[in-house]
Amino acid sequence: MLENVNKHFGDLHVLRDINLTVNSGEVVVVIGPSGSGKSTLCRTINRLEPIDSGTITLDGQPLPAEGRGLARLRSDVGMVFQSFNLFAHKTVLQNVTLGPTKVLRMGRAEADKRGMELLDRVQIGNQADKYPAQLSGGQQQRVAIARALAMNPKVLLFDEPTSALDPEMVQEVLDVMTDLAGEGMTMVVVTHEMGFARRAANRVVFMADGQIVEENTPEEFFTNPRSERAQDFLSKIL
Ligand code: ADP
Ligand code: MG
Repeated sequence: MLENVNKHFGDLHVLRDINLTVNSGEVVVVIGPSGSGKSTLCRTINRLEPIDSGTITLDGQPLPAEGRGLARLRSDVGMVFQSFNLFAHKTVLQNVTLGPTKVLRMGRAEADKRGMELLDRVQIGNQADKYPAQLSGGQQQRVAIARALAMNPKVLLFDEPTSALDPEMVQEVLDVMTDLAGEGMTMVVVTHEMGFARRAANRVVFMADGQIVEENTPEEFFTNPRSERAQDFLSKIL
């Protein structure tokens, strides 16, 4: 999926020769210290950030740079952010149906029906007519997940989806993500939730200073980290 990807912000070499393949149905958890390039990595995968060199492919196809191909890419690669990014002036259901009606040109009735199914799936169907500000953070993040799913993405990227939540709301969001993982959704998850990584990840990728330092199964990574950087990181957070 990513081959020899490099990116700079001015003098800062933020992604260094990144090679990463995410197979269909796989859950890859990306962990690493703040500033190591995890968010930038996510953003390059749906071309929110351009790269300087290397290639990124989805299902063997290079990422389209513009036009209709780029719009399709954005629906194929769903993204869930730390800060929810819901549309404040739209209801919960409207947040979920906007993409399908505008981008996928789905009819209103079908979009509403499917939107309600997705809201039920993230256990929030009873809040469909509320506005985001009327919901808790955990509820808003579950709406954001439903909104991403509404585009039928091939892969879902999560960038620290629980970092902005009050502690008691973290689990309800992780539960939804664990269910999705169990259903075979292809996911790349940046998170500090090591319990989730152990439970749901097929593979853990450890990043530091813009590089992938280590890549392993969760069992191996957590019990037997190879690199000093990973050992040091784990000793601080576990
Ligand atoms: P992480 O998500 O692992 O904390 P980021 O990908 O957000 O790391 O950032 C990696 C590095 O790139 C940091 O040093 C950050 O300050 C820098 N950076 C991120 N975005 C920008 C930007 N738009 N312009 C300049 N520097 C940036
Ligand atoms: Mg980040």
